[in-house]
Amino acid sequence: MRHECNKPPPPGVGTGPPDIIVRIESVLGVQATRPPAAAAPRPAAAPARKLLGSSASPMTRYDLHCHSTRSDGVLPPAEVVRRAAARGVEVLALTDHDELAGLDEAREAAREAGVALVDGSELSVTWEGGTIHVLGLGIDAGNAALVSGLAAIRDTRDARARRIGDALAAAGIPDAFEGALRYVTSERLISRTHFARHLIEAGHARDMKDTFRRFLTAGKPGYVPHAWATLSHAVGWIHAAGGQAVIAHPGRYKLSAAGLRALLAEFRDLGGDALEAVSASHTPRQYAEFATLARAFGLKASCGSDFHAPGESRLDLGDLPAMPAGVDPVWSAW
Ligand code: AMP
Ligand code: MN
Ligand code: MN
Ligand code: MN
Repeated sequence: MRHECNKPPPPGVGTGPPDIIVRIESVLGVQATRPPAAAAPRPAAAPARKLLGSSASPMTRYDLHCHSTRSDGVLPPAEVVRRAAARGVEVLALTDHDELAGLDEAREAAREAGVALVDGSELSVTWEGGTIHVLGLGIDAGNAALVSGLAAIRDTRDARARRIGDALAAAGIPDAFEGALRYVTSERLISRTHFARHLIEAGHARDMKDTFRRFLTAGKPGYVPHAWATLSHAVGWIHAAGGQAVIAHPGRYKLSAAGLRALLAEFRDLGGDALEAVSASHTPRQYAEFATLARAFGLKASCGSDFHAPGESRLDLGDLPAMPAGVDPVWSAW
């Protein structure tokens, strides 16, 4: 069956957002966009909890990766949700970097907009010396292991940002830390994106891609090595919180084919759930390649715009093409 990320349900055939919400309420508890009438007790560690019920339409429009001002997006959580709804997204995961703080606001807005919200986060991981992002989808945002794990990751960001500022100063760009701070929208989280926005505004680069390529990636003047969480910890926290672990935008990592297969093998052996095949970071050819890899490793496949700001990246919320045929979508058990 061909699963659609982007096509609206045909009239009278699809399941609209209110149906999804009703199904969520019937099975889920805190993930629902409205409080359920009677919240069923939930097991402490249960990957792939029921989110949408078994009758979710294959035509439902999903966008399972995006950011708000609680990390490095430019829209507040409620505005992200409203923008997604206006663009036809029916099931949205808010996945702020190392952060859950936007979910309450997003859930409230999702209830009003008739969008099904999937509680998520994008965890920063260091694997074999490089940075990997792992999405947690359908997590219990109150889970103590996940909450403290994310706090531990976030706590390292300030010192890292100062080192990035120092590195840029040594390369002849002074005051970049202070410049980046002017773009920070959550006192809990500073990222390279904030440096990038400052560097563009200060005339050092044309756009985001140019900035990362010239200043902020490995080997460039503003790049500093950093130790994030381990892959094993990240998957463990996501599963402890009852969520599914998804390797985000695999096409972005500078890994050889063998390196990528080693990552996927380790991820699978840790119990990882899915690979993000469709992403703004990928070409259409890569959608198919990663769908094939997901199948080869027994992983499900996910799709997300990785939206941060209007006009800043290739895909806006909901701008997702169809999931490649033959994959098991990450939502198949929802
Ligand atoms: P950090 O978590 O501080 O390392 O920042 C990572 C963020 O930088 C990502 O989530 C993206 O938003 C952004 N980013 C990383 N690489 C690129 C790139 N090549 N082009 C545009 N944005 C990027
Ligand atoms: Mn980001
Ligand atoms: Mn990412
Ligand atoms: Mn992201």
